[in-house]
Amino acid sequence: MKKIVGKIAGLVRQWEGPQTDDLVLRPGEFGLGKIPARLTPDDTTTMVCGYCSTGCGLNVHLKDGRAINLSADTHYPVNLGMACPKGWEALTPLAAPDRATTPLLRNETTGELEPVDWDRALLLFCERFKEIKRNHGPESVAFLSTGQIVTEEMAFLGALFKFGMGFVHCDSNTRQCMATSAVAYKQSFGFDAPPYSYNDFEESDVLLFIGSNPCIAHPILWQRVLRNRHNPEIIVIDPRATETAMAATQHFAILPKSDLVLLYGLANILIASHWIRRDYIDAHTTGFEDFANFVAQFTPEVVSGLTGISVDRLWRLAQTIGDGKRVSFWWTMGVNQGHESTRTAQAVINLALMTGNMGRPGTGANSITGQCNAMGSRLFANVTGILGGYDFLNTVHRKHVAEQLRIDPAAIPNRNSRSYDQIVDDIEAGKIKGLWVVATNASHSWINQSRFNETLKKLDFLVVQDLYSTTETARRADLVLPAAGWGEKEGTLINSERRIGLVKRVTRAPGQALADFNIFKLIAQYWGCGEMFREWSSPEAVFQILKRVSSGQPCEIDGIKDYRMLDDCGGVQWPCPVSIDAAPPATERRLFEDGRFYHADQRARFLFEAPRPNPEPADVDFPFILLTGRGTSSQWHTQTRTGKSDVLRKLYPENVYVEINPIDAERLGIAPNAPVEIASRRAQIEATAFVTNSVQPGQLFLPMHYPSVNELTFPAFDPYSRQPSYKACAVRLTAKSARL
Ligand code: SF4
Repeated sequence: MKKIVGKIAGLVRQWEGPQTDDLVLRPGEFGLGKIPARLTPDDTTTMVCGYCSTGCGLNVHLKDGRAINLSADTHYPVNLGMACPKGWEALTPLAAPDRATTPLLRNETTGELEPVDWDRALLLFCERFKEIKRNHGPESVAFLSTGQIVTEEMAFLGALFKFGMGFVHCDSNTRQCMATSAVAYKQSFGFDAPPYSYNDFEESDVLLFIGSNPCIAHPILWQRVLRNRHNPEIIVIDPRATETAMAATQHFAILPKSDLVLLYGLANILIASHWIRRDYIDAHTTGFEDFANFVAQFTPEVVSGLTGISVDRLWRLAQTIGDGKRVSFWWTMGVNQGHESTRTAQAVINLALMTGNMGRPGTGANSITGQCNAMGSRLFANVTGILGGYDFLNTVHRKHVAEQLRIDPAAIPNRNSRSYDQIVDDIEAGKIKGLWVVATNASHSWINQSRFNETLKKLDFLVVQDLYSTTETARRADLVLPAAGWGEKEGTLINSERRIGLVKRVTRAPGQALADFNIFKLIAQYWGCGEMFREWSSPEAVFQILKRVSSGQPCEIDGIKDYRMLDDCGGVQWPCPVSIDAAPPATERRLFEDGRFYHADQRARFLFEAPRPNPEPADVDFPFILLTGRGTSSQWHTQTRTGKSDVLRKLYPENVYVEINPIDAERLGIAPNAPVEIASRRAQIEATAFVTNSVQPGQLFLPMHYPSVNELTFPAFDPYSRQPSYKACAVRLTAKSARL
């Protein structure tokens, strides 16, 4: 044992990377010593932003070889010289004083987290999880991961946990944002394949945003819309008068969760009016006749009653779509975070298919992703499918992946993982006793938060691997593993338009914090499966493995030679087969230009189902519907990073606020900026009243970034994607003074 520990200690030192004085990037270098051709001035290198799925290119300005500032990359095809406040401030959170700088172990006597060395932390990590596995089996330990680490780390984590450590159940916080889109595309197209490129924002003559507020959530993509020279119709379907709705040419303020009914009603009008492309439907789809018969019941009068949109306006909306030559349909969390979200996303896809708005510039049924690497998570995390978009239930797929990884096929589970909500259920039921949380703050972000945090108390062992020791989740951990962040390690991210971009190491992680990649490498050694991952020696080595594994899949990337090519090209979209080597990958590429989809018959599917009522409607006791969503462009999710920036903190209210319609405010005697209480059946919280017409009477809006908000939310889930329905639950509102 002594010999192993000595060897491991050496590995820890080795994987800490260069010592402080060694991390000096000479002109022409990046990260761990590669030389990118796109390097611009001597004191600047480039990389993609690590916050959101837009995937902007940033210039990193160096002094003495280390990052000191950032600016937007004018040459990167995504953002064309623009960046949002988060991007400009991306270095600041790395210097926060609450960075985890050493492993921390909870002292059983004092209850406090106390520093330990890596050797002790890793020995304990393996001992405790092995003990749980021995006593309760391979389904008794799970991990919850993230869309915020690089693809190579996601792949390593998933492969290590399932193939090396022999566990089964794991999920990611992408379940909270993108599971619906992934399932909807997979069922409709035969593969999880968002079809568009960002150029489509500029090419459309009609853009529909459904449950999507790009002005705030994807501000650089909104800038791409503003570059559109076709004087487009911009249509927003959203209960709130969001910033995007205010800039739109048409806004449809539907009743909360009536989107599926509206979309079926539009399909009915389009069919009845012959505003469809029969030739496209016949050549490239299946199931249209059944769909047409199904939507016939959604007459304009019925739809008007259920959505709150007048019959005249429904006709006008349908005609705008029907008359459009290049119509693009965009959706985000307003669709994805619903109790019937998969069918809603597919209702959007159906509109694009039936009107032939697919595979041409300015068209498409286009889901905009959330996190910087949600797309990497969807294809390469080894969570809901095997690395490269393969199926755990498919014997041929398991054998193929095993061959490519040079491992025993028996090491690959032949069953699917439990989903996030089911993992929580299994913890509560005492079936899962160990949990490893990587780069996500579930104690803040998970729906019906109080129940989640009570459930964590049932675990025998909770490990949190994160940049910060102060997140709501880390504070509950038995063991904290300190991780390096964006800019402190290298790898790739995949953005919403399937563009693979490069992240570089431009500064050193503090203290003993290690890149997640190196933590996984160490765990493999300590666990005793290091040999299985001998080839997984660096992020770029894993990138080469992923190329091999995904070869022949719709998401193949064999044509990307190496990291240097990504840097040279300003990122590369998948698919990028070897054959594309003959000519450099086009800057912007969209899918399905030939009308061939990924099902065996190469046809897309019309999928539909009867709408179901909101699981928790307003009633006498809880008469308001609570909407949640992004607050400002300066806030990111649970604010573990954006909350560290003095600049960003000045750009949003410090305390939680609730949007209230003036009619409701007057009726309840609530003045602007007055303290109020909001109660659901699960909790009661306090907030400051923001009286505004942006919400309709009977509705409230809370930004999701504040810790108390998810105490209120109702845990309903879409049956296909298992995505939580954050967007609509019943609450009560009272003026705080009224109760004194
Ligand atoms: S829009 Fe997204 S990717 Fe671009 S700078 Fe802002 S956070 Fe970064």
